[in-house]
Amino acid sequence: MPATSRRTAELGTENAFVVLAEVNELVRQGKNIISFCIGQPDFHTPVNIQDAAVKAIREGRHGYTPSAGIPELRAAAAADMGRLRGIAIDPEHVVIGAGAKPFIAYTILCTTDYGVGDEVIYPNPGFPIYESQILACGAVPVPLYLREARDFAFDPAELEARITPKTKLLILNSPHNPTGGILTKKDLEDIAAVLRRHPDIWIFADEIYSRLLYAGEFASIASLAGMYERTIISDGASKTWAMTGWRIGFASNPALAPHFVRWVTNTDSCASHISQWAAVEALNGPQEEPRKMRDSFRARRDLIVGLLNRVPGVSCKLPGGAFYAWPNVTEACRMIGAKDSEALRKRLLNEAGVAVLADIHFGARVPDEGQHIRFSYAASNQAIEEGVARMAEFIRSNSGGT
Ligand code: PMP
Repeated sequence: MPATSRRTAELGTENAFVVLAEVNELVRQGKNIISFCIGQPDFHTPVNIQDAAVKAIREGRHGYTPSAGIPELRAAAAADMGRLRGIAIDPEHVVIGAGAKPFIAYTILCTTDYGVGDEVIYPNPGFPIYESQILACGAVPVPLYLREARDFAFDPAELEARITPKTKLLILNSPHNPTGGILTKKDLEDIAAVLRRHPDIWIFADEIYSRLLYAGEFASIASLAGMYERTIISDGASKTWAMTGWRIGFASNPALAPHFVRWVTNTDSCASHISQWAAVEALNGPQEEPRKMRDSFRARRDLIVGLLNRVPGVSCKLPGGAFYAWPNVTEACRMIGAKDSEALRKRLLNEAGVAVLADIHFGARVPDEGQHIRFSYAASNQAIEEGVARMAEFIRSNSGGT
């Protein structure tokens, strides 16, 4: 048989989708599973946004669009992204994609060359697509550890220690998947101070959870002196307006925008025309619904973190944003004799009917940081209460009287 490429062999995946398939199989067999696996809002897309899409179809606005996106959406996204970050963004510097995800690959493709040792620094634990795309694009992944003691923000000194003459790109993600951690303005100022000493490094600011922040103000590195020109801001419709399946993301950078447009032409041609009109309504229409969704996520965060901290052998920091909880389960693993978080995850799924992801789904485990699992709490209060109760009961009844 003909061989497949090294690039394909090295392409990783997003294990949320793999675990989801396992969950679906168990559900098909009639098992009752409460799932905290998949990172998407459990709300319907607001009706005004749905209506805008139907109207676009009815009016025949369903052909190809320019690869950069329709001007109305580029303008709306530029205004909205700029407002949130306190900067002026030219619509010409904004490109619309089929979700924010493609801009991860486009950015790595635009800033590194294949097989020459170009390095990309990225958060670990982190969104698994960073590492898999760095590898598939022929660059070298350099993980930057996030530690519980720092509320999962990284140490700027550790960042500086990882920078070499080969470093081309730094990936930041705040609010963060999977820990829910945030980079505060102070953290970002410290990071910017490091980067000012290294002017040849691009920054990919993955800010897809920018609106899901539960305390303080959202801060972007793009707002800090000298950072805008070298930062790719990545945001989108998926999380804020419950639009994951509509596939609309927006990225901005003055120099890279025209190159992103060529990548879109070479891959998707354009994002869904219909979804683009829906996203115009999402950005320009009333914001009551997204605000309600965010408030609901905040209430569920408080609920799940409170409950998790009462589970034997579990401790959970209060995440500042996104919809993920990242409890430390080192002691719970010990109590039930599970080798690690992945063994615990499997037993929780098969014996307790609770589906979560393990830390190894987000990169190699950080040394000396213990075991963690991820809950996506975009689930009903009832599912949260029942799911955590099942986990507590499972640990109690399997911990040999501890
Ligand atoms: N970045 C992060 C950190 C994410 O968690 C996700 C979605 N899970 C994305 C990017 C991609 O989002 P989109 O649906 O816009 O492609």
